[in-house]
Amino acid sequence: MPGNPNEIKLVNNAMSNVTRRKIMNFLSAGDKSAEEIGGEVGKTMLDFHLKLLQQASLIEIEEGTVRLSEYGRNFLKEKEEKGADKTADISQAKPIEITEVRQLLPCIADSSKFRVIANIAPPLGGTLKVLEPLFPRGKYSDKIGALIIQKGEIITTVYGTGKVTMTMIKSEAEARESLQSLKNTINEAIAKGVAPAPREKVRVEPMEIYKYLPQTNCGKCGEQSCYTFAIKLMVGEIALDKCTPLKEPGYVTNLEHLQVLSAYI
Ligand code: SF4
Repeated sequence: MPGNPNEIKLVNNAMSNVTRRKIMNFLSAGDKSAEEIGGEVGKTMLDFHLKLLQQASLIEIEEGTVRLSEYGRNFLKEKEEKGADKTADISQAKPIEITEVRQLLPCIADSSKFRVIANIAPPLGGTLKVLEPLFPRGKYSDKIGALIIQKGEIITTVYGTGKVTMTMIKSEAEARESLQSLKNTINEAIAKGVAPAPREKVRVEPMEIYKYLPQTNCGKCGEQSCYTFAIKLMVGEIALDKCTPLKEPGYVTNLEHLQVLSAYI
């Protein structure tokens, strides 16, 4: 069982490659033949990958059957338990494609902009949760099973089912460009086989909150001004739903932005 620095180096080197991580994950379902492994991860340099995993004592090869060693099984188990604190293995995820941009509807808050409904395939399901750190303003919602990404004026919601919605889009060209950028970011992480470790919270400034408030200083929340409300929201002294004008149809998009921003406070 690896213990000294050289042996640990062999393990780290073996696990630094996406194909070898895929092999390990594939073997966690049971013993396989080299043929079966080649069918799953591809046959290119398969002997080389298996040799490195064997040298690191992560797998055993006997009479054409490949299996996880006891150390390999413990290694995967330990990795799974520590998963929440480290980078997430997404080597099983398949690259996505934008399959269709289905609808462009006018935004309720601003009729010069559009709300877009699109689809990606294959659906990312629960993998979306570990993709959250890829986006500086991304937040996964367990409640709706979706990753909500804020970038400038645009809010993109990627559902585990493959559905994607975007708000405040200027044109179909902008929608396609934003979707392409989303696809590239996700596929780059899938190609590497890992999503980055959970990151620090993004700092939200009171001015950013104020920007999305109605800015009428109506006082319905009990505060003298919207800016005071923004500061109190920042420090947790007031709840977002105290600003009742935000429930009016004209502020639908503002409310969506504020809900995303609130997640970072
Ligand atoms: S209720 Fe909303 S719009 Fe009215 S002052 Fe408070 S924050 Fe501003």
